[in-house]
Amino acid sequence: MNRRDLIQTLGFGAALGALRVSGAESGATAERYARATKGLPPLKITKVRAILTAPAGIRLGVVKVETSEPGLYGLGCATFNQRPLTVATAVNEYLDPFARGRDVDNIEDLWQNAYTSSYWRNGPVLNNALCGLDQALWDLKGKRANMPVYQLLGGKCRFAVDCYTHCGGNDLKGIEESVKRAMERGFRHIRIQRGGYGSPQLSKKADWKEAGFGLPSDSNMAVRPYVKGTVEMFEHVRNTCGDDVELLHDIHERIPPIEAINLCKQLEKYRPYFIEDPFSPEDIGYFKQLRQQTCVPIAMGELFNSPHEWVGLITDRLIDFIRVHISQVGGLTVARKMAALGEWFNVRSAWHGPGDVSPVGHAANAHLDLAIWNFGIQEAATIPDRTREVFPGCPTVEKGYMYINEAPGFGVDLNEELAARYPLPKHPGYWEPVRRPDGTAVRP
Ligand code: MG
Repeated sequence: MNRRDLIQTLGFGAALGALRVSGAESGATAERYARATKGLPPLKITKVRAILTAPAGIRLGVVKVETSEPGLYGLGCATFNQRPLTVATAVNEYLDPFARGRDVDNIEDLWQNAYTSSYWRNGPVLNNALCGLDQALWDLKGKRANMPVYQLLGGKCRFAVDCYTHCGGNDLKGIEESVKRAMERGFRHIRIQRGGYGSPQLSKKADWKEAGFGLPSDSNMAVRPYVKGTVEMFEHVRNTCGDDVELLHDIHERIPPIEAINLCKQLEKYRPYFIEDPFSPEDIGYFKQLRQQTCVPIAMGELFNSPHEWVGLITDRLIDFIRVHISQVGGLTVARKMAALGEWFNVRSAWHGPGDVSPVGHAANAHLDLAIWNFGIQEAATIPDRTREVFPGCPTVEKGYMYINEAPGFGVDLNEELAARYPLPKHPGYWEPVRRPDGTAVRP
């Protein structure tokens, strides 16, 4: 078979013209390309843009990568609820001109070069923008291969993704009832919180308010009521809901490191599945002390941006679950390497999956969960109906398991017309201050 016959057999004669090759050598190059891509035409990025929408009031950000094949595009999550407009600027003003004309197929090469294209790197805004591009390229590769992304990552290690859900309330009876309802819905893993993070409702006196410090809308959180109230909550739920259910809790970095160590020690007898984010990223040096004091399993990392934050915690076996926000660390390309590193140290995954992850991001979490051996647990994607209408193909949760829809790529689309009907809320999205009773700022 000569080159022309081969190309016609493969059915992409017209597209081959886009390959920049010439002369005798070009024939050989084209044939090799044709064999390597099984007849898929060469594909270039033609446009990268951010789409912001808030169907349920949360500022969701998605990156759409369009290609030289009309109608073929990929979607990636770039949701940074607290700074959505800055991410959109990073995508539209910087990643778009950087990526245009580049080869859609070479995800790793694009990731590496986009990562260093700003020279300064590893921050939340640029990482989210980078994740949008990265995940969109994985979505595109799945669509090109006519396979779900998990197949490109090695196939399934499990039939579905085991998830945890959230139960909380201001009183112990209410939390107990909420846990029992979740167990009836089939959840085996349940995260319990007594009110908001740090249980601010248990902290009675805000001296800073009386002194006229801060704004009246700031909130108040004392350390002692939270620590005491959390131990009481675990005791109550264990006593009333039984020993079988796995219980999780998020300290959310809101207490001094030594208090977090003390709390973990007190919770040990209630056998938590994991305690999440005991320290701020600034305090990761405390993990060695924590490990020496307690065997409570630890999940860490939703605020992490940089490999310098997680590599040592994994290789020194100082945590049990790596719990990063995948768009925050720069994408699926980063997270799959993190998972591979974790496998050799038996550190399991617990990717962050709250409401401020787009359905594309939830699906990306799930595809990775299906494919890695050292999967731990997944925060269940709770996707409101209105968001599901904007993003056809969302993952679903049944009896505590998350399922993807098996379509090529991540399997989640975006109805742009509908998305445009839900502009961002007026509030720009920043977190309001939380204070100790004397007015000192609390780090989340
Ligand atoms: Mg958390």
